[in-house]
Amino acid sequence: MDDIFSQFGDVFGDDSPFGSFFRGAQGGGGGRQRVRRGSDLRIKLKLNLQEVANGVEKKIKVKRHVTCNTCGGNGSKNGTAVQTCSTCQGTGQTRKVVNTMLGQMVSTSTCPTCNGEGKIVTDRCDACFGEGRVLQEDVIPIKIPAGVAEGIQLSVGSKGNVPPRGGVAGDLLIVIEEEEDADLKRDGNNVVFDLYVSFIDAAIGTSVEVPTIDGKARITLDPGTQSGKMLRLKGKGIKELNGYGRGDEIVHVNVWTPKVLSADERAMLEKLRNSPNFQPKPNKNEKGFFDKMKDFFHG
Ligand SMILES: [Zn+2]
Ligand SMILES: [Zn+2]
Repeated sequence: MDDIFSQFGDVFGDDSPFGSFFRGAQGGGGGRQRVRRGSDLRIKLKLNLQEVANGVEKKIKVKRHVTCNTCGGNGSKNGTAVQTCSTCQGTGQTRKVVNTMLGQMVSTSTCPTCNGEGKIVTDRCDACFGEGRVLQEDVIPIKIPAGVAEGIQLSVGSKGNVPPRGGVAGDLLIVIEEEEDADLKRDGNNVVFDLYVSFIDAAIGTSVEVPTIDGKARITLDPGTQSGKMLRLKGKGIKELNGYGRGDEIVHVNVWTPKVLSADERAMLEKLRNSPNFQPKPNKNEKGFFDKMKDFFHG
């Protein structure tokens, strides 16, 4: 199980016991009943490249406010009835008439006695101290689709906090973070691997193993492979989010030039220095860097 509990704590809205916020039908109709909604919970979820590419199911541990079972959420002892607030007569709002130059104006504000709830808990529930909700550690299974990217936010409905003393829970929001892969770099739905080979391997040809999202793959380098060549491993990239396609892996060949030479090595290479085959002779089919980029990433 993935314990991302340590990342908990980034919470939308005011999470204090008396500060839950309202969303949805507000104002207008005066005495109209509002649906109280708890705050959203937001967590960050780090995924590796394989999880991003193929999608993954995770079980996430979160601490959230849930309805108190002892009082059923109203906050009073054993769930007995709560009193209607006498300050606002249960409307949750107080009205004040102000005389101005333009005449009388009525200003409405949240009732300070009940904090807009319209009800007062006189005999508090022992389990939740009158709050009507308790903090609980929940394990929430979530399915992450393939192809998500850094910063994408997924929402699990009603898995956030319930507000104090009754109402609907907010949502659990999951913000995706991509863990950088040691070998493969992401470029949209493609992944790029930088392969380094000796110029001997490049000249003679060789077969090498390269990492892919789903394990190793063996590729062949033809004799006379040029530095900068790009090989495409079809379908070895990242699945398209909400689609059916899949990106490719692009192996970018880098021919390694020795940085240090022993006297013997140097002597051997000196013999080849003026050999005609070692003189660069790029032909028209050997595209430069710019054309290759265009072909692979935009063609
Ligand atoms: Zn309670
Ligand atoms: Zn009140």
